[in-house]
Amino acid sequence: ISVTATAVSRSIGGRDAAVIVFHDVTAERRQRDELSAFAGVVAHDLLNPLTTVEGWTDTAADILDDPEPRIDLARDGLGRVTRAAGRMRGLINDLLAYTTSRDGDIAPVPVNLTELVGDIAAARTDAAVAAGTPVPEFTVGPLGDVRADRVLTRQLLDNLIGNAVKYTAPGVVPRLTVTGALRDGSVEVTVADNGIGIPAGQHAAIFGNFHRAHRDAGYTGTGLGLAICKRIVERHGGVIAAADNPGGGSRFTFTLPGSGTGAEADKFVAAAG
Ligand code: ADP
Repeated sequence: ISVTATAVSRSIGGRDAAVIVFHDVTAERRQRDELSAFAGVVAHDLLNPLTTVEGWTDTAADILDDPEPRIDLARDGLGRVTRAAGRMRGLINDLLAYTTSRDGDIAPVPVNLTELVGDIAAARTDAAVAAGTPVPEFTVGPLGDVRADRVLTRQLLDNLIGNAVKYTAPGVVPRLTVTGALRDGSVEVTVADNGIGIPAGQHAAIFGNFHRAHRDAGYTGTGLGLAICKRIVERHGGVIAAADNPGGGSRFTFTLPGSGTGAEADKFVAAAG
């Protein structure tokens, strides 16, 4: 809190007077801290790959000047440039997603979660086939309907499902179970995986901006995905938390407002047990 005291020159009712203004600067300070954290990450995660791109562009020029150009070197360099560009794209996408998850209006509409998760699962399956990585196995639903912003809900589930697939040991088939339950008019969704799990004591911290718990294990990322998820859920009045999955791996549970369609909700409760 910042305090400003101003002496009032004219005395009031024969007494000296002063105006004291209390000003809460917590929010401002938080915003400033967030901004410097952003600047730091942008500098590091954008400038590093950019250096790679510049370095290899120079090398490519040298290779072309060589009377016997080394095609293998050029191919290797191109691969590095492509990966560096991918890292920059990832960061820019996350920064944009972070901003849109925070600002702008949310437009709540009825969203069928079972369909939405089916759609995301299909896209993840296609991506794994294209990349030649183990194809994830999904067990889904019934999840019920929520009343939420469709774009943000997709982003929330896509982030959680993407993480569940990503934080699995190399070569292991990711197994995801997405289940739902209706509680007090809210739909509670759990995304469980058989992955590498969350290190002890970091289950809350991973929702902070730029927090990465597996940086040393060689996983790349921006550490913004879960911060975005938290923001999306909270903007809808819900909560999100991470826990260890009893069978190994981790599980993320969040709530969103139910769609409130009576008959559908009753059926869903019966089906979800
Ligand atoms: P990113 O994946 O870009 O690093 P996130 O904000 O999505 O950022 O996640 C933050 C951190 O939480 C990750 O870096 C990872 O260490 C951990 N994490 C997220 N999801 C999972 C998961 N399903 N299993 C294990 N660890 C996870």
